[in-house]
Amino acid sequence: MATMTLDQLREQVRGEVVVPGDETYDEPRSVLNAMIDRRPASVVRVANAGDVIATVNYARENGLDLAIRGGGHSAPGFGTVDGGVVIDFSRRRSVRIDPAAATARADGGVTWGDFNAAAHAFGLATPGGIISTTGISGLTLGGGIGYLARGFGLSLDNLISADVVTADGRFLLASEDENADLFWALRGGGGNFGVCTSLEYRLHPVKDVYWGPMFFEVEETENVFRFYREYMKSAPEEMGVFPAFQIAPPLPFIPEDRHGDMFTVLIACWAGPLAEGEAQFKPFHEVAPVKAEMVGPIPFPAINAAFDALFPKGLRQYWKGNYVKALTDEAIAAHVEHGPKAPTVSSTMHLYPIDGACHRVAPDATAFGHRDANWSMVIVSGWDDPAADDANIQWVRDYSDALTPYSEEGGYVNFMFADDDNRVAANYGSNYDRLVEVKRTYDPDNVFHVNQNIKP
Ligand SMILES: Cc1cc2nc3c(=O)[nH]c(=O)nc-3n(C[C@H](O)[C@H](O)[C@H](O)COP(=O)(O)OP(=O)(O)OC[C@H]3O[C@@H](n4cnc5c(N)ncnc54)[C@H](O)[C@@H]3O)c2cc1C
Repeated sequence: MATMTLDQLREQVRGEVVVPGDETYDEPRSVLNAMIDRRPASVVRVANAGDVIATVNYARENGLDLAIRGGGHSAPGFGTVDGGVVIDFSRRRSVRIDPAAATARADGGVTWGDFNAAAHAFGLATPGGIISTTGISGLTLGGGIGYLARGFGLSLDNLISADVVTADGRFLLASEDENADLFWALRGGGGNFGVCTSLEYRLHPVKDVYWGPMFFEVEETENVFRFYREYMKSAPEEMGVFPAFQIAPPLPFIPEDRHGDMFTVLIACWAGPLAEGEAQFKPFHEVAPVKAEMVGPIPFPAINAAFDALFPKGLRQYWKGNYVKALTDEAIAAHVEHGPKAPTVSSTMHLYPIDGACHRVAPDATAFGHRDANWSMVIVSGWDDPAADDANIQWVRDYSDALTPYSEEGGYVNFMFADDDNRVAANYGSNYDRLVEVKRTYDPDNVFHVNQNIKP
């Protein structure tokens, strides 16, 4: 059989095929993290599932590396590739809500901002991430950790089905009833098993929430973390709350003379009855004096955009992540030592709770590993100047190393960097062997390898 040429690919697709030299080349080849500057041989800005099938066939037949660009947020830059082909979903951003069934069907290029706005119009939401520009596809297929996780599970726990183009160019529906092994692997296995042209989600009645960050003096870090550890033992599941470190940005709710100072922060979201919000936040105000805060009722989509300005396109980034079962005194001491040294306003540690509804899913029900972890920790640094690369990367590494003895061997695949490729098996724990089996069935030649790769 003759191998498809680029001209034949152009003839087959409805979307745009962009190559080096084209005026529009730079936008779809780029990703959020400015450390990543890759030059694909072609980018296909897909218009429909047929375009995806043609592009997968083209890449496979020509032996080209194939990247899938959903929202382009992968910190290691898995949404683009040097010399290969990119399937760019950025023009596929439609969301259809079925209010009667409380479900949503969303295209592969939808961001959480798109999704939340569409669902909010009907007083509905599903667990997603905390930044509005992140893609639903990459985030959901790796896990999906955010404010609503304790109450409603991970994003992937709310996935009902997906339309998938597999490595051999077939178009399959994956759900509990159809191609169930593929559906199992997709829910955690990231982009390893196929290209999702659309995803169907379960929705929940969440419209406005009681939310906000509370800033404490950094000297209170130990108090805040010890309080948090005890509080979480009996916290209602409607409460999504995590500790963080934050250099105060120049925002009106922070006293001007404190702009630029480092704080320990609790960021909380109460998704229960709004009238109970203030009372539910009371314990946080009793830990230590709150030096600045912006709490109150707010539409759910707005909280997902609240931190967007801290992670603009063009920022250089480095990430590390670990699962955590217990917040021991020793772990708290490591946070006290390293957290306050966060070098920039876009550098932080977030300790996201993944108990509650996340724990009620059996460990082998989806490919997501480590259902017994109570938190997913991420340490991230973001900066502008390439000359500051070493200092920022070193802060993340030192902090992560200090927490390693008090963390699980594995971490959340979506918080891993490229230098974490030796952790893939550990990240999936007891689900890894089955993932390899499903990979052998659906992608024996590893066409989909630009990711935290599960090797067939
Ligand atoms: C600023 C920022 C905030 C974040 N916040 C959160 C958070 O709150 N919660 C959380 O859980 N994670 C969070 N993350 C991590 C996030 O989950 C991952 O970066 C995720 O990969 C982003 O998905 P994307 O579609 O934007 O990425 P992309 O870079 O486009 O893709 C990432 C990976 O997903 C695969 N992929 C993308 N689209 C598809 C598709 N349609 N079909 C099949 N595979 C696909 C690709 O193969 C690639 O390996 C955040 C990341 C950033 C940069």
